[in-house]
Amino acid sequence: MQDKIDQLRTLSVSPQALFIDGAWRPPVDGAAMDVISPIDGSRLTTIADAGAEDVDRAVVAARRAFEKGSWSRTAPAERKKVLLKIAELIEKNALELAVLGVRDNGTEISMALKAEPGSAAGTFRYYAEAIDKVYGEIAPTADNILGLIHREPVGVVAAIVPWNFPMMIGAWKIAPALAAGNSVVLKPAEGASLTLLRLAALCAEAGLPDGVLNVVTGRGAVSGEALGLHMDIDVLAFTGSGPVGRRLLEYSARSNLKRVYLELGGKSPNIVFADAPDLDQAAKVSAYGIFRNSGQVCVAGSRLLVEKSIHAEFSEKVAGIATAMRVGDPLQLSTEAGAISSAIQLEKNLGHVDRALAEGALLRTGGTRTLEETGGYYMRPAVFDVTPSMMLAREEVFGPILSIIPFKTESEALEIANATEYGLASAVWTSNLSRAHRMVRGIRAGVVHVNTYGGSDNSVPLGGVKQSGNGHDKSLHALDKYVDLKTAWIQL
Ligand code: NAD
Repeated sequence: MQDKIDQLRTLSVSPQALFIDGAWRPPVDGAAMDVISPIDGSRLTTIADAGAEDVDRAVVAARRAFEKGSWSRTAPAERKKVLLKIAELIEKNALELAVLGVRDNGTEISMALKAEPGSAAGTFRYYAEAIDKVYGEIAPTADNILGLIHREPVGVVAAIVPWNFPMMIGAWKIAPALAAGNSVVLKPAEGASLTLLRLAALCAEAGLPDGVLNVVTGRGAVSGEALGLHMDIDVLAFTGSGPVGRRLLEYSARSNLKRVYLELGGKSPNIVFADAPDLDQAAKVSAYGIFRNSGQVCVAGSRLLVEKSIHAEFSEKVAGIATAMRVGDPLQLSTEAGAISSAIQLEKNLGHVDRALAEGALLRTGGTRTLEETGGYYMRPAVFDVTPSMMLAREEVFGPILSIIPFKTESEALEIANATEYGLASAVWTSNLSRAHRMVRGIRAGVVHVNTYGGSDNSVPLGGVKQSGNGHDKSLHALDKYVDLKTAWIQL
């Protein structure tokens, strides 16, 4: 497979237009942005930099397609065929998509293959299979009344997604929205648009009617804002940072009160008790739970809480794994942590290291830029000892930086775990079943892993509590975001 990857890595990528109403269209003012590959800092291609007028064209096309009914009113079985075909085409083009995505955002290829085309195909298939198994309801009314509860598509859905795992996260939103019969306008992140543009082409090839899926690329503050403020978008589904999530709520309030679903950041606690079943395994999984994709994972276990009696030994194990991690060319199958997605992100990460050191955090390993001679953006995974009040114990870094915090008792572990504005993911390692259940109940987060970190599939929801967001991606629950309930009250 490495041979094929090496062939694909040098393919030239043509300048990318917007995908609106089933066709590639340049932006009205012809504006474009450079796409810089984090692998070596070279210019990969350009993407269109959409303005408000382009966004409007995409929304108009989406609404027209919705009203026409060629997707929104087709039988679920017909929609299912198209979604299954999309899944098939993603799988057929998986390697090409994965390499293209890695050249764009730097994720290590071994992970990208699984998490990007692999996961996206599975998500399309999951919602394709779900469409004709989700019913409306008959309410338990008086005998002379028939109360029907219909589930109807909302209309036009805007999806705004981040640069880490664009296909996976894009599919989490597009697939259930399309399955429910909606039209979609998708805005990828500036640093990871290429695979989603390719996905639009595959959707058209699979038979998705014109205008049902539109992709507008460009700057968040311009095209993202135009989507947020648009008067004809019914639902806005977002994954990204907290500050942008807040803006989207403001845009909604200032425009048409569109429903806004937010999947935001995290500062997820990974809690290791001395009675964990296998401390070596716990150390390995914990290290990968933060350092895969260079820590650019919303559910990354960035706070490692370790019981005092094993703190020294366990922290050494984790730091040892971090030190030995193969950081480098993300297109090598053997690489364990690829590139940081952009020069800006690398700067931010190094800034976090400097601030942590200035605050008195103890650096056990890493935290420095590496492989600078490649021109790319690489960093050694960093492991810090911190106290709960330090910045590294509270703020999301979104990079390869782990904070270790010791605790003495179960209640102290819970207190530290919950002492954050976030509530996305978490984990508990213990052999004590009662303690595991107590922690599952006590931790305020969307997911609590027990004796593992980071596993998931399409059948379970992913979403945050507190300032990690609202609403859920994945599972049948995600469909609820993209339907309206309508009551028919019929006098018999
Ligand atoms: P970001 O918020 O900067 O950008 C996300 C998207 O919003 C991009 O498409 C961007 O162009 C757009 N955007 C930026 N400014 C905008 C504006 N003013 N109006 C409308 N749209 C705008 O986030 P990012 O840096 O791309 O991603 C990292 C963040 O995403 C982290 O906080 C991470 O935790 C979070 N994330 C969360 C999940 C989850 O499932 N909860 C998954 C992945 C990433």
